[in-house]
Amino acid sequence: MINMINNMNPIQRYESRITALSPEAKTAIINIGLSWPDIVGASGSYISKTILHNIIKATSPWTVNKVTDNGAGRNGVTWSIIPTFTDLNLLNKIEGGRFTTYDLTSVGREIVIMMLLNCNRCSNTKVCQKCLGSPGYGSTDSVCDHVEVKDCEECHGTGDPDKDTGEHGCWNCEENCDSCDKNRKIFCWSCGGHVTCQYCKDLDAVWEFE
Ligand SMILES: [Zn+2]
Ligand SMILES: [Zn+2]
Ligand SMILES: [Zn+2]
Ligand SMILES: [Zn+2]
Repeated sequence: MINMINNMNPIQRYESRITALSPEAKTAIINIGLSWPDIVGASGSYISKTILHNIIKATSPWTVNKVTDNGAGRNGVTWSIIPTFTDLNLLNKIEGGRFTTYDLTSVGREIVIMMLLNCNRCSNTKVCQKCLGSPGYGSTDSVCDHVEVKDCEECHGTGDPDKDTGEHGCWNCEENCDSCDKNRKIFCWSCGGHVTCQYCKDLDAVWEFE
């Protein structure tokens, strides 16, 4: 089974996961949509993948504080996730203790995992969609205007070599330019030359969640 999944391309892998969802989860997805966090985010209460990830990682009922990043994203949890998910029976509200806590239902868990895995930026291809014509690069006629070492006023043309390694240390001149490939060909603004989608590259661990 594991080998079969590894041999799939990213879209097949994603679709096989959708197919494996419970009927209840599929119905809930039709109601809410997997892009829901992005849509509510656009209208105000931001819901980041980090918060969804925290909710999935929680091993016991959680408080709003527990799943927000020092309170960042609190509005999104309080005013979007909690009411919407409770209405759709994706979230249990547990009252009676000192704090109100919440716990995803099993269907809620399936949904949040799929929301995390869903990447609108690359349509789950894992490939940056902004530079398909010239993978990794931006428009072909723009050249990087980085400063050459000899013209650099910050290091007076020395490159500020590290005392121990001799490596170029100046932040300002060409050696450290990460906008281009050193031949002044500018990288794609979206993937920075990586070609892979940078918005879902850190989500591989999510695939392991059940
Ligand atoms: Zn992506
Ligand atoms: Zn310099
Ligand atoms: Zn450059
Ligand atoms: Zn790109």
